[in-house]
Amino acid sequence: MTLYFASSNDHKKEEMMRLLDGVTVRLPKEDGIAFDPDENGNSFIENALIKANALYEKVKAPVLADDSGLVVDALGGRPGIHTSRYGDTPERVLSQREKNAKLLGEMEGVENRSARFVCALVLMLSPDRIYIIEETAEGSIAFSEEGTHGFGYDPIFIMGDTGKSAAELSAEEKDRLSHRGKAVRKMNLIINQLKKENNNEEM
Ligand code: IMP
Repeated sequence: MTLYFASSNDHKKEEMMRLLDGVTVRLPKEDGIAFDPDENGNSFIENALIKANALYEKVKAPVLADDSGLVVDALGGRPGIHTSRYGDTPERVLSQREKNAKLLGEMEGVENRSARFVCALVLMLSPDRIYIIEETAEGSIAFSEEGTHGFGYDPIFIMGDTGKSAAELSAEEKDRLSHRGKAVRKMNLIINQLKKENNNEEM
């Protein structure tokens, strides 16, 4: 089974491929499909639906979309749905290291460091057959960048009670605990059920 994945993020694709049961994931860019929808929703789920709808309109085939981000309690939930563009201005897009440094700076001297990664996942088989899952990985904001694995804010996010940043975990450890891992495992249950209903034929 092949699903288009409404993203241009190779790291997310890699995680999806690891996590999904018997599904091949294709990014629109791999087929030369331009994909950059305006993510102007007010929640992770709204943005995942915007991405899923936009890609479905282009490919007219089942699509998977994810919208994710980091929610920091002491910052009133920031960066939240703005995680991927945090600190960017029309003049300049910050590098991920600069984004991490900005967040660490905002957390300087802050005692309550609790935070969570959130992942909204949408499977759109057609405009009227839609499955939505949202999951979290609880943790806290580190005091400095640690680790080299993963991507994005992984080096500054302490995963659960591991005492390690998400970038210090192996891929398997991160998958077991992460927001995306939890959401995709639940999506696997839905996909496997759909396959059964279709007698193991392609959906
Ligand atoms: P999206 O592509 O609009 O969903 O942006 C989500 C942003 O959240 C990404 O650009 C990453 O910076 C961040 N993010 C989401 N999931 C993870 C993760 O597993 N580790 C680190 N950063 C993440």
